[in-house]
Amino acid sequence: MIKMQNVSKIFGQTRALKSIDLTIPACLTTVLIGPSGCGKSTILRLIIGLLQADSGSIYFEETKIIPEVVITLRRKMGYVIQGGGLFPHLTAYDNIALMARYMGWDNERIRKRLNELTELTHFPSDGLHRFPVQLSGGQQQRVSLMRALMLDPDVLLLDEPLGALDPMIRADLQVDLKRIFQALGKTVVLVTHDIAEAGFFGNVITLLRDGKILQKGTLEDLVQSP
Ligand code: ADP
Ligand code: ADP
Repeated sequence: MIKMQNVSKIFGQTRALKSIDLTIPACLTTVLIGPSGCGKSTILRLIIGLLQADSGSIYFEETKIIPEVVITLRRKMGYVIQGGGLFPHLTAYDNIALMARYMGWDNERIRKRLNELTELTHFPSDGLHRFPVQLSGGQQQRVSLMRALMLDPDVLLLDEPLGALDPMIRADLQVDLKRIFQALGKTVVLVTHDIAEAGFFGNVITLLRDGKILQKGTLEDLVQSP
């Protein structure tokens, strides 16, 4: 469904991605794992079109991702940046509803969609009128996820969705996220640096180091290899 061919990305002196080939299958969870700075977030930003590759091509289904199509393609993708990226001056409700309002949805339609999403993510509806700072880390991540899911995208891109959470909250959210991925059956690309997390989520795990893909497979494949 998403295909990167020979993709390189350079920032000044840093070769963030060195001619990578990566196929991300539809309707499965692909985990990108590797140490900090190996290029994981850069891959997500290239897919969603926030960055342009210096060389190589990226395809979403049959469409080559070029600046002219990015706005259209982005509607089919939900993206949760590291830390969640919620707007601190907006309530949870307004954070989630933002894009739908921009698209011209009426309040009734927005409310209905929010009901579905709070049920799906097990988010307490009285939390919707709080500001991000008034919510726990796990609840903030649920809000970020709902915002990404609001317009029912085909693809979900998640950058360290369990990063910086307390162990208990983390375990809870991890189980919920997997349940949600399975319920929705969407194409998910999840970034982490935690091998246990990668094995928990990933149908396909891609191991990166220093801007290159070292290996790809199931957790068993990666653990058994020398
Ligand atoms: P990861 O997500 O695996 O931690 P990144 O994709 O964020 O890695 O970054 C890969 C490399 O590219 C790192 O060395 C990082 O410092 C560098 N990098 C990423 N974004 C920028 C940028 N906007 N400007 C300069 N260097 C960047
Ligand atoms: P991650 O590891 O998740 O990519 P970073 O802390 O590397 O997070 O990046 C946070 C932001 O800073 C991103 O927008 C990234 O593009 C930018 N960035 C990362 N490394 C550099 C760098 N060396 N110089 C300038 N900007 C950078």
